[in-house]
Parts: sequence; structure tokens; C-alpha cells
Amino acid sequence: MTLTDAHAATDAARVLDAPALWSAQAHMPSVVGRQLVIDRAEGSYVFTTDGQRLFDGTAGLWHANVGHAHPELARAAFEQMQRLETYHVFARYSNDKALELGERLAALSPIERAKVILNSGGSDAIDVACKLARRHWQQQGRPTKQVILSREHAYHGLHAYGTSIAGLPFNREGYGTESLVPETARVSFDDLAQVEETIERIGADRIAAIVAEPVQGTGGVNPPAPGYLEGLQRLARDHDILLVLDEVITGFGRTGEMFAAQRYGIEPDLVTFAKGVTSGYAPLGGVLVAPRLWEPFYVDAPETPVFRHGATYAGHATAAAVALANLDILERDGLVPRVRELEEVLRRELDALRERQEAVVDVRVAGFLGGISLDERLVNERVADRAVDLGVITRPLRGNTLQLSPPFIVSDREVVDYVAAIEQAIVEEAGR
Ligand code: PMP
Repeated sequence: MTLTDAHAATDAARVLDAPALWSAQAHMPSVVGRQLVIDRAEGSYVFTTDGQRLFDGTAGLWHANVGHAHPELARAAFEQMQRLETYHVFARYSNDKALELGERLAALSPIERAKVILNSGGSDAIDVACKLARRHWQQQGRPTKQVILSREHAYHGLHAYGTSIAGLPFNREGYGTESLVPETARVSFDDLAQVEETIERIGADRIAAIVAEPVQGTGGVNPPAPGYLEGLQRLARDHDILLVLDEVITGFGRTGEMFAAQRYGIEPDLVTFAKGVTSGYAPLGGVLVAPRLWEPFYVDAPETPVFRHGATYAGHATAAAVALANLDILERDGLVPRVRELEEVLRRELDALRERQEAVVDVRVAGFLGGISLDERLVNERVADRAVDLGVITRPLRGNTLQLSPPFIVSDREVVDYVAAIEQAIVEEAGR
């Protein structure tokens, strides 16, 4: 069949009439005609264009940690844009906000004496971390160390690297090879012996880094098994493999510490972040880099190499100004310690839910992050749709799981009501 034949084979009459905007990660026939269009928000609530008010129990895509439509963040963006929308940070140019944010993030970083690379989001950050890991070993004269290990069920965004190291197979498949970047491999998400076997099979002399979400998000809200992260760190150290913690979800308070590395006592070589750094008010992400990686690029000598990476919006001044204002709010309003209280409320409510509902086979909580796994009689997508009808947002994830990750500004009562609404959705679905 030629390309033209293939084109003609599409039955034009059956192609949906739909908005021009192609939705992300969407089965379009299931979405067209029933989109939830959000046009305004207040704190933990969003409003659809047809007037429905929804409790945003997922904080969007785990991003709106300080709540939506915060006037201080709007003001920070407005004031910065009036002064300077941005100036790039290539070569000898920079801007004051990017520099200020760099200092602020280095001070918060779980890595001592960290340097900070800024860009536009989590997928970007993963690309940078993986490239820098490979570049590091080239620079160290060990160019065979190229393979990036990642865990089954992992989600690291969907740029070329994130696609290639995806632990959710459906995100990796369909591009003509199993992955876009060939030098990748998956390891077990909970079994350290299997991780060690994989390292030995591939050979540590071929492995650049291992990337891990401290608490897996999209893969089903999977907190680390006791000892797993420590064990991963030990394996990485013993085999001279860099440890990258992907803190795109967990960074900036979600687990009750500024970074999950601090909660779990891990010292990574690289940390990726995004979402919570601005609470989603501006597209910003980045990477915290340990001295062993950045020092060779800072040696005062003509032959010192350049890390050839960057983008127009790296260090975007307005995004940085918004991040600084967001960090002010997090600190001033005590939202990170508040997460530790919310974690207890969420755990209590989810444990009680599991006791009451036979259809709930497991609940998992780490910080203000929860997952509810349902038995096979229920379909999590349907329960999530029903929850929307009841006025709350939850999201279906791998493993027949529902995601709970509200903004940090909610009351205890709102957590109780949220879980009650999900319970009602479960009961109604089970009774159909
Ligand atoms: N890493 C993790 C752990 C994530 O959860 C996400 C996004 N959900 C990403 C990376 C990608 O971030 P972004 O969507 O900002 O590119």
C-alpha cells in the first residue's frame, strides 16, 4: 500500500468533527463532545464553562499546590512582565530573576553546593538530567557509560528521553523501535535483587545513571518499599552509577519535606523538578546538580568543556519571578508542615474507606499523595467520571487506581468530604 492509498483508506465520513486543539494523552473518540472545559478557579475549586464547580482533588496534574488563581502570583507575573518579560541565559547573558531563583533553589536543595539548570517543565528536566549524566561520563573518559536505567511503572514525561525510559510500556511503544533512545533499560520498582541482577547483566561500565521517582505518581501512587531507595543509592554508589531523583511531583513539599530526598534521607547526584516550583503558574522546571557533575565545567582553564544544552526560555524571568513568589507563599503560610498534618488526615480517611468498602483492594499514602486501588469489578475511569458528576476530581492511574493529591491549602473537612464523595462514586458504580 502506498502512502496515498493509506490516506484514502481513512473513511473521511467517519472522522470526528472536533476542536482544533489536539488533546494530550487522549483517545479522541472518547473525549470529543464530552470535554470538561475549565475557565476559572478559586483556591481548591475549578469551574467549567457550563457552570459546574469541582473540587480539584488532583491539583490539576499534581501542580496547583498553593491553590488556583492566587492573586499574589498573578501580581508577580504582571509586575515582572512590565519590567522585563525575560532575557535569555545563554553565554554571558542572564537576568536577575533567574539568578535569584538559582540561589534560592540551591539553598533549598537536598544536594549540597548544588548548581541549578532551569528550563520549561518536567520532561525538559529529564532530558537535561539524562544528557548531563552521559556527558559526565564522556568527560570523565568513560564514554561507554551511556545506559539510563529506570523503574517499571515509571513516568518521566514524554519528550524523547522520557518516552525512552518510560516504565509504562504504552508510553514507549509505537515509535518504530521499543524506545527512541536505545541505551535504556528497566529495572524492578520494588525488588533490589532484580535491580542488581540487571546492573550485572548490562555491566556497570555501560550504565550512566538510574532515574527514580521517590514516590511513583502516574504509575499508580507507589511509595517506595521500605529500604528500596536507600538500597538503590547503595547499588548506584557501589557501581559508580549516578542517581537521579525525579521530584517533578514530590518536589516543593508534596511529601511533607521540601524534597522527598530529605524525607527518605537520600543524597542524589541530580534532582529533576517542575510543577510545584511555580505551583503551575508558569511553565518552569529544572535540575539540581551535584558538585561532582558541575565542577569539571567550572575549572578556570581554556580547555574546560561546555555543557551544550539550553533553550530560549531556560531561566525565563517571568517564570522565575512567579517561582520566587510561590516559594514565599509556601514558606510564609507554613504549607510544607501543613502537608504532614494533611497526610495523617488522608491516611485515616483512606484506611477507613478500605475497611468499609470491599471493592477497595489497597490504599497508599505518602505525604499528601494518595492512591486507591479498586478490584476488577470496577473500572477506575468510570468511577472518576462519576466522581466528577458528584463534584470532585480524581484521576484514573495504572493499576485500577485513583489519584488523590489536592492543593495544600485545603481544610481537614475538605479531605474528609473528598474521600466521602469518592466513596459514593465507588458505591454507585459497584451497584450498577
Ligand atoms: N516526571 C514526573 C515524575 C512527572 O510526574 C511528570 C509529569 N506528570 C514529568 C516528569 C513530566 O513533566 P511535564 O509534564 O512538566 O513535562
